[in-house]
Amino acid sequence: MLEILIFLEIIIMGIVCAIIANGKGRNPTGWFFVGLLLNLIGLIMIAVLPRAGKKCPKCAETVLQEAQKCRFCGYEFPASISNPPATSTKTLDQIPLKYLIAALVIIIIAKFIKYYLSK
Ligand SMILES: [Zn+2]
Repeated sequence: MLEILIFLEIIIMGIVCAIIANGKGRNPTGWFFVGLLLNLIGLIMIAVLPRAGKKCPKCAETVLQEAQKCRFCGYEFPASISNPPATSTKTLDQIPLKYLIAALVIIIIAKFIKYYLSK
């Protein structure tokens, strides 16, 4: 029973990290494993990391995802490319927080169950 709870907690941490990473425009698969291996540390790492930007096709510098003009070379991003990711990241930003709170509640409950089982 205890082993199942620990296992569930680790999986939830991985999923939460993947969701936050996805919302920040980062690799969700990679962050899933970071969450699995590092648990809370992984979660803090992805929470602290800034949002990943987009690469300028002209100068290869990274600019903010919402940017319409490159701050390095002045390249103007086509509206058709910069608009869809902006709306998709906006909706993705709202989902992780809900999942994060839900996951944290589950983790806290799991910790309480673990505590009472160990008594
Ligand atoms: Zn540029």
